[in-house]
Amino acid sequence: MLGEGILKGLAETAKNFAGSFVSKERMTTVEYPEERLLLPEASRNFPFLVYDGEDWEKGLRCVACQICEKECPPKCIYIEKSKDKKPDYVGKPQIYPTKFDIDISVCMSCQICVEVCPFEAIKMNTEFELATDDRFGGLLLDRKELARSNEYYHEIHPTEATEVDARLAGEKAKVEMKAKAAADAAAAKAAAAPATGTGAAVAAAKPAASTEAKAAPATKPEEMAKVPAAATAPAAATAPVAETAPAAAKPVPGTGSDGPAPMTAEEKNKAETPAKPNEREPKV
Ligand code: SF4
Ligand code: SF4
Repeated sequence: MLGEGILKGLAETAKNFAGSFVSKERMTTVEYPEERLLLPEASRNFPFLVYDGEDWEKGLRCVACQICEKECPPKCIYIEKSKDKKPDYVGKPQIYPTKFDIDISVCMSCQICVEVCPFEAIKMNTEFELATDDRFGGLLLDRKELARSNEYYHEIHPTEATEVDARLAGEKAKVEMKAKAAADAAAAKAAAAPATGTGAAVAAAKPAASTEAKAAPATKPEEMAKVPAAATAPAAATAPVAETAPAAAKPVPGTGSDGPAPMTAEEKNKAETPAKPNEREPKV
């Protein structure tokens, strides 16, 4: 039929026109800002800092290691470290950032800061309503403006946030197991210590007592005084003699001096018989 194709096309157009007012699939216009589309999980804009719990300041995961600050290509992160420490998510004392600013007028949304962070502390946000009439101050976000809860992270990146939570929970469990094992080992050592400690104490006490018993007579002056002088004197007198006697007893040849060592008969004859002159002086 002549004009059938035209009629079919007009019918399709009429159907879409009417359907765009009633059919959900055809209503492609989003009445922003009253209405908003759910952004895809992979979408990203600028970074934010994740915190756990209710208190953003206490719960910040960031430990001010400054890796992200060093790695950021346009250098738009500025961090100042704290002097004190606070417990992190596994209870380990860590420093924290007293200042953490990101200049989002410079940030290029490269996500390198997220990739390098070892503490899962910085993630990419999906917020895009950041227009301001303050070109510099309004786009320099401090740590309070950057802080978002872990629940928020789950809302915008549910898959990624679940993986991160599982990883952190695994690390926490490992740390707790280690701490428990250390505590058990310390308790076992403490329980074993009294038994060995008593044995050691007894063993140590015995020699001490015997040493004391031996040393006692020498150290007590009144007992020393009771010891007869005759008993001590020979010991003091004989000791040097015994030591010096060999030297004094050495016979001096030709002197005839009386020494404690007896002379042999040959030595005696030699001493008594005067020496002949020709024997003393060598012949010329
Ligand atoms: S997303 Fe890139 S440019 Fe932006 S703060 Fe992180 S590292 Fe720097
Ligand atoms: S966000 Fe991560 S990488 Fe950056 S300072 Fe904090 S802990 Fe370190």
